[in-house]
Amino acid sequence: MRCGKMAAASPPAGAPGAWGGARRRCRRLLYWVPVLFISSILCWSYYAYVTQLCLLTMTNIGEKVVCLVAYHIFFMLFVWSYWKTIFTLPMNPSKEFHLSYSDKESLEREPRGESQQEVLRRAAKDLPIYTRTMSGAIRYCDRCQLVKPDRCHHCSVCDKCILKMDHHCPWVNNCVGFSNYKFFLLFLAYSLLYCIFIAATDLQYFIKFWTNGLPDTQAKFHIMFLFFAAAMFSVSLSSLFGYHCWLVSKNKSTLEVFRAPIFRHRTDKNGFSLGFSKNLRQVFGDEKKYWLLPVFSSLGDGCSFPTCLVNQDPEQASTPGGLNSTSKNENHLFPAKPLRDSQSHLLTDTQSWSEISAKPEKGKVGMSNPALTMENET
Ligand SMILES: [Zn+2]
Ligand SMILES: [Zn+2]
Repeated sequence: MRCGKMAAASPPAGAPGAWGGARRRCRRLLYWVPVLFISSILCWSYYAYVTQLCLLTMTNIGEKVVCLVAYHIFFMLFVWSYWKTIFTLPMNPSKEFHLSYSDKESLEREPRGESQQEVLRRAAKDLPIYTRTMSGAIRYCDRCQLVKPDRCHHCSVCDKCILKMDHHCPWVNNCVGFSNYKFFLLFLAYSLLYCIFIAATDLQYFIKFWTNGLPDTQAKFHIMFLFFAAAMFSVSLSSLFGYHCWLVSKNKSTLEVFRAPIFRHRTDKNGFSLGFSKNLRQVFGDEKKYWLLPVFSSLGDGCSFPTCLVNQDPEQASTPGGLNSTSKNENHLFPAKPLRDSQSHLLTDTQSWSEISAKPEKGKVGMSNPALTMENET
């Protein structure tokens, strides 16, 4: 089927292929338009604030110095976090999740059905995977030919599977996921602070504009538009930033809000939530000195995540009460050893995962027989 698609897509002669390539390149260039738009506004705001407002309009030296120093701090943090969000490559599943050559062959050979599901079940046997498709199947990406790790999704724009995918953001022309989610949050926070700072310091000059208190130069128009732009962006950024703060506090991704993660036996929209403080540390890390800087400090490897369903750590008493009873009943399904926050070696510890996956296989009588079908996610 995959081969059929490829054959249909392959051009008979050179011209259509060249046309397709040019179209793809054009599309890739167009994806940069929103980034160019933001960058242009940023450059103009720099000129308008530094030159027109601070250097040409402010008369008080003290105010001028304070505004220029504070402005440049916000500007630098904003640009740094924006840059990191754009240019940090999204992380893809490691090679353990890719099907072996023989598995790929047998998957293509088998008709879709129980035998094909068996191949996937065997491939996923030693992997730290808790989530399933709606039908209870192993999550498999037909396009990348890999077993999807928990919280991983295929991005149709990047055409790749992205670890802990949050969303594809056109404003940064990049996928926001495990590798750059912290940078994205800081970008939202610093851009919001940047706008609020500009609006607050520009306000008195904006009022002077309307009361004819400004000299009649072109600076007055920069000052007026600067206030409008800063206020407008502050409103939209604050709602987006507030929403992502809520997501972090619940340890959810944007995609998980729309479709709650499905675990082996139940759907649980708060399945990855470990309590506010631990959720925060999942994204920002254990060392507070790195929290406000756009340097990578998130916990884990992006392929496996601690869940409150398997949590038996007494330290994590904040686990929602309703889930404790379930985890007791499902002890035989999950590792006896709880997953810790900073655990990032799950893939190397294949012994423990083999034990987990072996147990449910034995106790399968009476369990729902998960139909391991392909999951189509875009
Ligand atoms: Zn994929
Ligand atoms: Zn993407």
